Amino acid sequence: PDGTRTYLIGGNWKCNGTIASLEQLVSDFNAAGPIPANAEVVIGAPAIHIPLCLMTLRKDIAIAAQNCSLTGMGAYTGEVAASQLKDMGVTWVILGHSERREGFGMAGEDSELVAKKTKAALAEGLKVMLCIGEKKEEREAGTTMDVCASQLKPVAEILNKEDWANVSIAYEPVWAIGTGLTATPEMAQETHANIRQWMSDNVSPDVASAIRIQYGGSMNGGNAAGLMAQPDIDGGLIGGSSLKMDFFECIKGVP
Ligand code: PGA
Repeated sequence: PDGTRTYLIGGNWKCNGTIASLEQLVSDFNAAGPIPANAEVVIGAPAIHIPLCLMTLRKDIAIAAQNCSLTGMGAYTGEVAASQLKDMGVTWVILGHSERREGFGMAGEDSELVAKKTKAALAEGLKVMLCIGEKKEEREAGTTMDVCASQLKPVAEILNKEDWANVSIAYEPVWAIGTGLTATPEMAQETHANIRQWMSDNVSPDVASAIRIQYGGSMNGGNAAGLMAQPDIDGGLIGGSSLKMDFFECIKGVP
């Protein structure tokens, strides 16, 4: 929006898709229109489908993992190391998504763990979409920015100033994820501006003005343009709509 930041449109497929359904989606995406020059597009595929996407998806869409291990390679059954993602040709990783923080029945990830994973992923040369955002009760209690700051603080403590060049912040109010309740452009803008101010005060003004802040939470082809018209909204992280051709309607919303 300030003309210097490239828009970042992420798709988050979460734990969805089969070979057949994703082959169809990839072929539809491959046949869709061009991606604007001022936008970067990344798909967060399920780990198991990453090779399929790397081999078949159009090359102007990068591939992200949706998580990575804190550890390197070794005796860590069931984990995928950042170095293995990098080796496979993955360039991005989504970290700290609210669903991983929540844990869906397992122990969730806290902000310290997310910060350590961010550092580990960056050290292997991956770029990170770092997700933050408040729950409904927290917004209602007026603590939205306190929550976002508490999620950013451990990351700011562990990263060097230069590390931030490879990080995008995805602001995803939890109450808006998968609910059809999008934050209004004005509501989202207010929080995005507060996050950028926090980055300026706690990391540096240069980092704050360069970093992309994506909005996530029920973004779709109908509301993406209005959100991205806001001065501090530099793209989106799109769940449900990224599993449909509506993803390209979101991309068309890039100003
Ligand atoms: P949604 O998910 O677009 O389906 O709300 C966004 C996300 O969780 O990243």
